[in-house]
Amino acid sequence: MSRPSHTDPFPLFRPIHARIDFDALRHNYLRTRELAGEAKMWAVIKANAYGHGITRVARALGRLADGFALLDLEDAVRLRESGITQPILLLEGFFSPTDLPEIAARELSVVVHTEEQVEWLHASSLPVAARISLFLKVNTGMNRLGILPARAPAMLERLRAWPHAGVIGLMTHFADADGERGVTTQLDRFAPVRAGFNGPVSMANSAALLRFPQTHADWVRPGILLYGASPATEYASAADIGLRPVMRFEGKVISEQHLQPGDRVGYGGTFTAERAMRVGTVACGYADGYPRHAPSGTPVAIDGARSTLVGRVSMDMIAVDLTGLPRAGLGSVVELWGEHVTLDEVADWAGTANYELVCALALRVPAVEVGQAELPDAAALSSAAVMR
Ligand SMILES: *Cc1c(COP(=O)(O)O)cnc(C)c1O
Repeated sequence: MSRPSHTDPFPLFRPIHARIDFDALRHNYLRTRELAGEAKMWAVIKANAYGHGITRVARALGRLADGFALLDLEDAVRLRESGITQPILLLEGFFSPTDLPEIAARELSVVVHTEEQVEWLHASSLPVAARISLFLKVNTGMNRLGILPARAPAMLERLRAWPHAGVIGLMTHFADADGERGVTTQLDRFAPVRAGFNGPVSMANSAALLRFPQTHADWVRPGILLYGASPATEYASAADIGLRPVMRFEGKVISEQHLQPGDRVGYGGTFTAERAMRVGTVACGYADGYPRHAPSGTPVAIDGARSTLVGRVSMDMIAVDLTGLPRAGLGSVVELWGEHVTLDEVADWAGTANYELVCALALRVPAVEVGQAELPDAAALSSAAVMR
């Protein structure tokens, strides 16, 4: 059942959707580019573009993006098939030597983060002309991926000796770019590896890009900034940074209940009305990606006016306070996050990160695309036109 109309963009039978604003996405890309100075940008679109839809985001950024970074070979192939010609970087590299022919055929770039991967390269057999660009990942303190700095010279030698090596770059990743410790220790460990190296270097995620210009180097790797949320909410809000929210998560009120003092709401009766109240039941629950740990008091916006969640989040429904909003009721649009209620606020209330909320958006929630869907010619697009 499809009921598209100007005033009622909810596309499915069940009134819930995530509006994805392409103009905001491009605005954020260009704002991030301003912050990144001379560095090129891999638009990080892992985790289904942080819940925004990987092919949708790639299509909307189009030729504006210098490159794309993601995890899955299948996703990378899909991007190539949809006409994306920029560099595509596989952030976790490859998982088996048998991945290499496809990686070469699709001209993908890979992170190399273990000595085993280096040996797999040498053991592979590829067409003579095949070239793969490689970013050697150095573990400077995150202790997640990467070889130790002391091993980097030997590994770089080994990569240079591989006949199919294209461009060879260096990369590291910061553990505390959003926190008090910052990047100093990791930069210090990386410095001797970089010294005398003349290929491309990539270090910064969104938080480093924002807070530490000395990390910009040749390629930055912003993710969360592109989606209009802050990578370091303690230092700057999304609005402070000049970002616009890309996702607006909305449902509708499908039932209205009138409570007397002492009445309870939802499973476990965790919320008790202290006065006469009107509550609305919204078609949105944790199975849609709304955080189950969001407590009573978490902000929502009802037809644009701020109110709060009451009671426990159910699988498919939540309750919101309609008292004091006389015009709100059945059919009212409830924004869970987006324009009037920021993603960062909801994350705070739910005790989680903005990243987790958008990534957890359920596949059953349909996307409604807002703004210009595709860039006919990104080169002709002036930043002024997009930034407004
Ligand atoms: C996810 C990721 C990024 C992007 O992180 P943000 O904080 O969203 O900017 C950059 N680099 C690597 C290696 C990543 O895994």
